[in-house]
Amino acid sequence: MDSAETNKAEASAGNQPQLFSAKKLEYIQDTLKHRPFFLYFENDIETMFYSKRADEYLRILMAGKPLLLLMFGLITYFAISQFPNAVFANDMFLVKYCFLPIAIALACVMLFAEKPFFVRNFQWMAAPTSTVILSCILLASISSYDKNFSQHAAYDVIIITTIICFGIRVLFPVCVMIVIISASITMLAAMTLNWSFDLLKLSHYFGLGSLATLVIVGLMERQERLAFLQELMVSHQTVELDRLNRALDRMAREDPLTGLVNRRGFDETMQIEWDRAKRDQQSMAILYMDIDFFKLYNDTYGHNIGDVCLRRVAQTIKAALRRPADLAGRYGGEEFVVLLPNTDRDGAIDVALRILKHVDALALPHSRSKAASFVTLSIGISHLIPDNLLTLKEFIKRADDALYQAKERGRHQYFLSTR
Ligand code: GH3
Ligand code: MG
Ligand code: MG
Repeated sequence: MDSAETNKAEASAGNQPQLFSAKKLEYIQDTLKHRPFFLYFENDIETMFYSKRADEYLRILMAGKPLLLLMFGLITYFAISQFPNAVFANDMFLVKYCFLPIAIALACVMLFAEKPFFVRNFQWMAAPTSTVILSCILLASISSYDKNFSQHAAYDVIIITTIICFGIRVLFPVCVMIVIISASITMLAAMTLNWSFDLLKLSHYFGLGSLATLVIVGLMERQERLAFLQELMVSHQTVELDRLNRALDRMAREDPLTGLVNRRGFDETMQIEWDRAKRDQQSMAILYMDIDFFKLYNDTYGHNIGDVCLRRVAQTIKAALRRPADLAGRYGGEEFVVLLPNTDRDGAIDVALRILKHVDALALPHSRSKAASFVTLSIGISHLIPDNLLTLKEFIKRADDALYQAKERGRHQYFLSTR
């Protein structure tokens, strides 16, 4: 796989098995080996991680929708019925900046939760909204309108922080940002508005609470990231294994010297075509070929030149075939076979003549051949419409017998099985 393909694969959905470039694979293995405490990924992998999480938090949001609505309804109801003074105080501060943003955020989730753009950018929409909401509840909790209200608002701070960190699953650094910015906004606003500022309360409910939440979230996210890398490794190994299996499969069917299918591959295809011809009652033919005086060729020119000759003859036989379904194979040392599906007697003779002519045209010198001064072939032809009277093995044997006849009659010719 070249790098463009790799990149394309890596950009695709995180769940698809995919193959990584050597560099990326090394990065994944290295990270898994060293397990750094602060674990953040290179660009591509971070994007894949985020998109996988986006899928997950979409599911969590969809499942949690009724619960979120119920919580919002209850908190709003109790806040308004129990503490109307606090809620509507200061020009409806909490209504405008807390309940309204939560209501809008909830409405967005209800309406757009399944839209890809929303899911992809959820984190960046959720972060500012969460910051505003959290700041307002914090402000409410440190305000001294009503001691009881202030106490309840402090609990809400814990609930909202937990929802932001665990529920909507923004990434850990974003959680940290939300918490720090909310605390800063709260302190600044409280000082600007001249509210009596209870630092102990803020650090107790918000500082300690959010610190504990953030530590748990950070540790969880680290585990999640390590698990994600493991998934990528498994995904890579799955694709690699599949590729190797296919290569092995191909190698098991291919003759390495000539590139033709080997005996095993040929027999498999032959069986399929035999069954098909039998079912459809169509004629099929097989050519069984053998290079004439090849032992003498090897003895004269050496084994290496013999190999070159085999390769050239194999290519020539293959090139002489015209139909896509015709198949040439190397059956043994200097023996070749050609399968001709849907071909009758005349068609088979045609192909045999063409092969003989093409091999002659190669004009590979063979000084010790008794058939010609160049390398020649003998061909046995067998053809039939398969039935239950003859087995495939017998059909091939007929072609082999015909080849023997061609040799007997002086070689450099074809012989048609008459049985
Ligand atoms: P005939 O005309 O009767 O076919 O005679 P022949 O010499 O071709 O037949 P024989 O079966 O006696 O010899 C086949 C030779 O093919 C013997 C063997 O050394 C050679 N051969 C088999 N496989 C290979 C191969 O992979 N490479 C080379 N160079 N030679 C091979
Ligand atoms: Mg032979
Ligand atoms: Mg031979």
